[in-house]
Amino acid sequence: MSIRKVALVTGASKGIGKAIAIELSENNANVIVNYNRDEKESIEVVEEIKKNGVEGIAVKADVSSFEQCASMIEFVKRRFGCLDILVNNAGALADKTLKNMTKEQWDRVMRTNLDGTFNVTKNALTIMRDNGRIINISSIAGVLGNFGQTNYAASKAGVIGFTKSLARELGKRRITVNAVAPGFIDTSMTKAIPFIRRKIILAMIPIGRAGTPFDIAGLVAFLASDKAGYITGEVIRIDGGLSY
Ligand code: NAD
Repeated sequence: MSIRKVALVTGASKGIGKAIAIELSENNANVIVNYNRDEKESIEVVEEIKKNGVEGIAVKADVSSFEQCASMIEFVKRRFGCLDILVNNAGALADKTLKNMTKEQWDRVMRTNLDGTFNVTKNALTIMRDNGRIINISSIAGVLGNFGQTNYAASKAGVIGFTKSLARELGKRRITVNAVAPGFIDTSMTKAIPFIRRKIILAMIPIGRAGTPFDIAGLVAFLASDKAGYITGEVIRIDGGLSY
């Protein structure tokens, strides 16, 4: 029987992070559910996780704070002793054309998406076991760019550079580092998109529908599994064909 893995998913109180946390627990991992504000929702996710017979626990930390990330990893160390799977999922948007974007909007998105990936991963490496898995949630906006998203696209492109560089650094320890680049996924992040624009995007997707958080979770769970030990430094688009 394989030893139960320990997984940390950031921003796991809802949306894609929640689906990933639940899917990893279905694959027999103990899961730490990181959240920033949604305590009630993250406790509900933990309840779901526990139904799968594994340990689940919610830990509050703002990923844009290096100190709070250090405390979160210290907690994981005390509670579980190590970490096997890290999913950097927490992310934020503040869409504006560059002409109308404030410095605060630029900084907020970079601090959450790019600094957040650094803050969590840098601390997590101190307890990561050999043969571990790091999966960073990027976006097709980081691959292709997107109107009104210079901040978001730059942060997600940064995550890709981070992923590829770290994959080279950690290969000797058989720790894989990959990025997943989702397309248009139905979550609170895409709820604000106006009806007409939504119809236009949907018409461009060959599979003919928006993605669901569980579409993304299935891929992340595979990358986190023993079966994916020879895949590293990759950016895998998962967008129903939107970007090919
Ligand atoms: P969401 O808004 O439902 O979830 C984002 C999560 O991140 C929330 O739980 C939120 O609380 C958390 N979060 C935000 N700032 C945080 C912080 N500072 N510290 C800790 N947690 C924080 O959106 P989602 O669609 O589930 O997004 C998940 C990831 O997928 C994000 O990185 C997003 O950029 C990426 N993504 C989403 C789509 C999409 O179409 N929904 C497409 C491509 C990439």
